[in-house]
Amino acid sequence: MNDTIAAISTALGVGAISIIRVSGPESIYIVNKIFKGKDLTKVNSHTINYGHIIDNNEIIDEVLVSVMKSPRTFTAEDVVEINSHGGISTTNKVLELLLTNGARLAEPGEFTKRAFLNGRIDLIEADGIMNLISSKTEKTRKLSINQLNGTVSNNIKDLRSKLVAIISNIEVNIDYPEYEDIEVMTNDKIYPDLLSFKNELKQIIKKSEEGKLINEGIKLGIIGRPNVGKSSLLNNLLEEEKAIVTDIEGTTRDIVEGTINLNGIILNIIDTAGIRETDNIVEKIGVEKSKNIINECDLVILILNYNEELTKEDLELLDKIKNKKHIILVNKTDLDKKIDLEKLDSNYLKISVKDNMGIEELKQEIINLFNLGELETDDLTYLTDARSIALLKKSLDYINESIQSIDNDEPIDIIEFHIKDAWETLGEIIGETYKEELLDELFSRFCLGK
Ligand code: GDP
Repeated sequence: MNDTIAAISTALGVGAISIIRVSGPESIYIVNKIFKGKDLTKVNSHTINYGHIIDNNEIIDEVLVSVMKSPRTFTAEDVVEINSHGGISTTNKVLELLLTNGARLAEPGEFTKRAFLNGRIDLIEADGIMNLISSKTEKTRKLSINQLNGTVSNNIKDLRSKLVAIISNIEVNIDYPEYEDIEVMTNDKIYPDLLSFKNELKQIIKKSEEGKLINEGIKLGIIGRPNVGKSSLLNNLLEEEKAIVTDIEGTTRDIVEGTINLNGIILNIIDTAGIRETDNIVEKIGVEKSKNIINECDLVILILNYNEELTKEDLELLDKIKNKKHIILVNKTDLDKKIDLEKLDSNYLKISVKDNMGIEELKQEIINLFNLGELETDDLTYLTDARSIALLKKSLDYINESIQSIDNDEPIDIIEFHIKDAWETLGEIIGETYKEELLDELFSRFCLGK
């Protein structure tokens, strides 16, 4: 981290202004070499300086240069930002001059990574920055800003200090037993604390999974035999002709995706080929995909036809979705009834895509299934990424193990061992016990110049 990095921080294209960012010990010195105006090495920190970028006396651009000295900067290093006139060739030329004068091209996310490594932000805050850039709805924006401003991290720190309290209780009692019997001590003190910690953690995991929904949306798969109306439903939901609707069985072979915004939550809709036994190779690939879809989705919508009897495939699909969050739709209620609804032992909704009947009820059902109505909360302070949620769950496992150990009358140091594991795992979430590869992977997801 001793070198100085540079990158274009704004989107590359034709715009009014582009910002080229430089960070590192030599940043002021390097920019000064290509700047004509005040001597930047002598200006005060946090000043904006007017001048020109020059290349061997040739003027490249008229610029404003912000000089920000360590440590009160984004990366905690000396940072210089050059506001140049937008435009691909000018911006690239300025960057090129920086590189030829001693800066190195930053890797994606490297500015944020430095901010993390220099202790300016923790991992959750770093992730918040990325989420903020890519947020599509008002709720994702709020979630990200809470991540970014440290509210979420503080929750994790609180949890960790609760565990530290339990651990120190154990240590103190091992060293200076106020209880004569360790067993009495664990039962009186540790056990209830662990149980309440466990409940709190479970609640946080639940909230986080809801937060994940807000962040990533719901993956919705529409399945059913060919011709039941899958593409028609998709089009209706998307209100545009995305998938090709035809009368010929098996035309929707490719998975078509589209998104709608339901109560502020993104619904990613995936249309699938009809699932049925078939000899047609191409269609078979589509059918296989459909079966995979059931596993991949958060919610499966199975469409059956009102005007047809239930087939073997329908029954097979009904069976396959049993253990999955699902909605059964009986479509084409505008036609004559042939289906034996008695045979459906679960709930279903009657719709007619053609007549636009039942679509609102379907949306309402999705809202109910995911408690989206209740998600209307301002308390968007939970972890939302898969990595953090997995770590929360792992930490819960350790807590469960510690409780189990008490139940099994295991020695106190075994119990303490599990609690320490839980504490360490929580630390991984905010990056207190991080690994180098993890950092590389996390930060490489950023765009250049961040
Ligand atoms: P998919 O193969 O499951 O995607 O089915 P499509 O969406 O391509 O629909 C097959 C046919 O059923 C098309 O001709 C649609 O217009 C028709 N269809 C879809 N929904 C309804 C409905 O509610 N009522 C009637 N009568 N026809 C429908």
